[in-house]
Amino acid sequence: MRSYRDFHRESIDAPEDFWRREASRIHWETPFDTVLDRSNPPFARWFCGGRTNLCYNAVDRHLATRAQQNALVYVSTETGIESQYTYAELHAEVNRMAAVMRSLGVKRGERVLIYLPMIPEAVFAMLACARLGAIHSVVFGGFAAPSLAARIDDAKPVLIVSADAGARGGRVIDYTPLVDEAMSRAQHAPQKVLLIDRKLAPNRVKASYFVDYEPLREQYSDAQIPCEWLESNEPSYILYTSGTTGKPKGVQRDVGGYAVALAASMEYIFEGRAGDTMFTASDIGWVVGHSYIIYAPLLAGMTTVMYEGTPIRPDGGIWWRLVEQYRINLMFTAPTAIRVLKKQDPALLRAADLSSLRTLFLAGEPLDEPTASWISDALGKPVVDNYWQTETGWPMLAIQRGVEALPQKLGSPGVPVYGYGLTLRDENTGEPCATGEKGVITIDYPLPPGCMQTVWGDDARFVKTYWESVPGHQVYSTFDWGVQDTEGYVTILGRTDDVINVAGHRLGTREIEEAISSHASVAEVAVVGVEDALKGQAALAFVVLRDANAAADPAAAKTLEASIAATVDRNLGAIGRPARVHFVAMLPKTRSGKLLRRAIAALAEGHDPGDLPTIEDASALEQIREAVANRAA
Ligand code: ATP
Ligand code: MG
Repeated sequence: MRSYRDFHRESIDAPEDFWRREASRIHWETPFDTVLDRSNPPFARWFCGGRTNLCYNAVDRHLATRAQQNALVYVSTETGIESQYTYAELHAEVNRMAAVMRSLGVKRGERVLIYLPMIPEAVFAMLACARLGAIHSVVFGGFAAPSLAARIDDAKPVLIVSADAGARGGRVIDYTPLVDEAMSRAQHAPQKVLLIDRKLAPNRVKASYFVDYEPLREQYSDAQIPCEWLESNEPSYILYTSGTTGKPKGVQRDVGGYAVALAASMEYIFEGRAGDTMFTASDIGWVVGHSYIIYAPLLAGMTTVMYEGTPIRPDGGIWWRLVEQYRINLMFTAPTAIRVLKKQDPALLRAADLSSLRTLFLAGEPLDEPTASWISDALGKPVVDNYWQTETGWPMLAIQRGVEALPQKLGSPGVPVYGYGLTLRDENTGEPCATGEKGVITIDYPLPPGCMQTVWGDDARFVKTYWESVPGHQVYSTFDWGVQDTEGYVTILGRTDDVINVAGHRLGTREIEEAISSHASVAEVAVVGVEDALKGQAALAFVVLRDANAAADPAAAKTLEASIAATVDRNLGAIGRPARVHFVAMLPKTRSGKLLRRAIAALAEGHDPGDLPTIEDASALEQIREAVANRAA
């Protein structure tokens, strides 16, 4: 086995040698002449002159050896549909979709906006774009019309691909009224919307720009569309960040660097091999979906499982039954899903045969210790936390078990991944932090292959936002806080804008949350800062209890509040003690499981939280509002 330390060192000291070697994992129609062009920092260009195609590498390349192996397994507990596509079948479907898109005028370099639920056609559409050299921009199906319109105007697509409806938790969500409203709001609405009719919405909006996919698919059922060979640095897709911290940024990704980075990550981080089955329970609208539902498993010749539904319908055992049924080897989801499952009967987990499962990967938000311990004990398998962003496309911090199986440390996603010159820096001086000292997580130039090339259509915003926020050094800022220990393990302490200032002390809300969640009665917690006449800001905690009745009467609530405050005093110090602890049944979160801290803070200060298109359950806002009002009364 390699040593992690040497491996990482080589990737930083000799990136050209390192990545030249990794580049042989994919097919190059024309070989590249330069591994890395660093002539125009902070921009980096990888594998210059090389020509390749993501669809070719994900599909066509496997036909010779695994045409009859499943490429895609589709399960919808919303519609009851289960289907499977071999690589040969996937190839045929992608060709049909590509032919239909081409007939509607889609060409190389043009954008196609994909606004679809979790259906196989979403995979076909993304791969068809890749095949044609068109740039896909997948917009999460849960977004409302104004958000969709804003993304249409930014990406200026020549075509939208959508469906009659999505479904979630047994409820049908009509898409056509949303698309119709977005089409009329947008300045740059395309001529056509290709519509996948799932026959879920009987009263879909009829407008002349809707084109039904099915008859066209029939017409082009034998189509063979050649792959466009793209220069490695041409864009493959645009994906907007989830907007937790402001106006979403169109993250633009390349072709060759992305393919190489994902293929390498499959071996070194995920230990996925050709023929394995991977189930990534996320959404195609997020980066985890792009990288680990679609591209990475297919690039590696694996079978990918795509799931439409929630983890608890028909019951909390559904995911584990899928593991048994499809002999799933790797699973990937977000901690929020595990917290949901934790509230279910553990017998549901033990009832399934999980012998095929090797590892569970979790990413997207902090993995708290109780959740991590619960799931790894329950599964008896390694649980690998990994930290990254839409911008990076693949993990920055992880235990890279395919390099060296370093021990896990609870509470830390692990050590810097090869390729990333990850450094914690002082926010004021930009100098590297000492061990144990809190700093901003930054990446030295250049970003490795697969990361964002720029903000779509706005190079200046890319430079200004990401590369000019750390004083004195041109380094990429993640806008996350962390702390690194003597062995290189990094712990994430929250986002740089989640800092509150209490009587002159700067505190990360995440640190206070960690302290509170170590209290035995606490299931979940969000801490926000609100204005305080005396101290500048004060911390407010919103706590979901394990047992909702524990704070049912005011006396019990008071006792609990005191014991939670005492826990913070013990773990963090009295300075972090929240001014108030409110008990609520649920916290407002995005569909992807991220806490909407800014919305909570707005409500706590009596402001309107604004438009929250990605909120999972809007009634959570009402609870915050009530909790604050009751205590004030
Ligand atoms: P926006 O950038 O628009 O505000 P966002 O940052 O929520 O949106 P993503 O790119 O999906 O959108 O999320 C990346 C962020 O999620 C990271 O910067 C970090 O704050 C958090 N995160 C991801 N993985 C982890 C992890 N394993 N542990 C802790 N935090 C994580
Ligand atoms: Mg972000």
